[in-house]
Amino acid sequence: MKVGIERERRAGERRVAATAETVAQLVALGLQIEIEAGAGTESGIADVAYADAGARVVPQLQLSELDVYLHVRPLTPEVAATLAPGSISIGLGSPATELPTVAALADAQVTAFALELVPRISRAQSMDALSSQALVAGYRTVIEAATRYPRFFPLYMTAAGTIPPARVLVLGAGVAGLQAIGTAKRLGARVFANDVRPASADEVRSLGGTFIDLDLDAAAAEGTGGYARALSEDRAVRQRELLAPHVAASDVLITTAAIPGRAAPLLVTREMIAGMRAGSVVIDLAAESGGNVEGVVSGQDLLVPTAAGDGHVTLVGLKDAASTMPSDASRLYAKNVANLLALMTVDGQVAPDFDDEVIAGACLTRAGAVLHEPTAVALG
Ligand code: NAD
Repeated sequence: MKVGIERERRAGERRVAATAETVAQLVALGLQIEIEAGAGTESGIADVAYADAGARVVPQLQLSELDVYLHVRPLTPEVAATLAPGSISIGLGSPATELPTVAALADAQVTAFALELVPRISRAQSMDALSSQALVAGYRTVIEAATRYPRFFPLYMTAAGTIPPARVLVLGAGVAGLQAIGTAKRLGARVFANDVRPASADEVRSLGGTFIDLDLDAAAAEGTGGYARALSEDRAVRQRELLAPHVAASDVLITTAAIPGRAAPLLVTREMIAGMRAGSVVIDLAAESGGNVEGVVSGQDLLVPTAAGDGHVTLVGLKDAASTMPSDASRLYAKNVANLLALMTVDGQVAPDFDDEVIAGACLTRAGAVLHEPTAVALG
């Protein structure tokens, strides 16, 4: 069966859905791989490496001739409409925000798998692209902060004087937040963190961070599947009040809080940012989904004047964070994709078993229907 990988078209996207290693893995399963020339260039993978791994490198894919289409970013409705009825697509689907594409996939009778929907159970960890890409993004938040912060992260005791370590606050200690905590610790900062899920406290401490317990009603914040649930408005207001002194005391603030399928929760007001010291840096990883910080603009650095009038705080709306490190991000992502495809492949034939909870859970559209219930409801 023919599996195709295109060069990602969306501006800012530098990742690719297959590496030479995953091409070899899929060829060994009996699949025929076609990849568009230049697809791996941004990830440091040359066409010849794909060819050596057994792929056919082509100037342009004929999408309607593919049995399986692998991608990174959600498809456009136009590409979805070009895929053959009964063919399979595997990649990020962003079902909550890409409704026209979901509708187009259903109309085109494509069996579409969205990696965000892979159940987060132990057996499916090797297919969990949310985690693999959050790892990259979380690491990157600290690198972006360190390059903008005008001081050191670590403590230095020198003959010319002592430089205190930076104080870093991480809000949201999920996969990305924990990577940010670990990376900031490795750079020598003092790290503090808060999350509404009580389970995150031990994870923060295990990485050497200090957990800030705000004494909000923990049970009310625990949703299903280990995820957080949105706080009620009065609790959200209380959380911001309680966070304010911690934000003011920080040199670097990194926000990563998210609620599945919803806009990011607002954790930090403009006033709280203005209360930070001049030169402080705020990185909002949630900027693309509305932002944890009031006034953040995805893809932009804003200078917020301090309330003290002595300078400004840099507020960064981080965009395409995983794409900024395409080699490692692609390496992990391509493995997630190949592992899901391998789960569906028997004797060289891609034949998804919908009795398998991972396969059924990840399926977004099939035979003209939208199977992911919240998306089906949103489409009416
Ligand atoms: P996410 O991206 O949905 O959210 C990021 C973090 O924001 C979460 O920790 C969440 O609790 C936090 N958050 C939400 N509202 C907040 C608020 N008002 N204030 C502060 N923090 C807030 O989450 P994620 O990183 O994808 O991980 C979610 C959970 O899934 C975690 O428990 C994680 O350990 C778990 N997980 C399990 C597996 C598995 O295979 N079993 C794999 C990956 C993640």
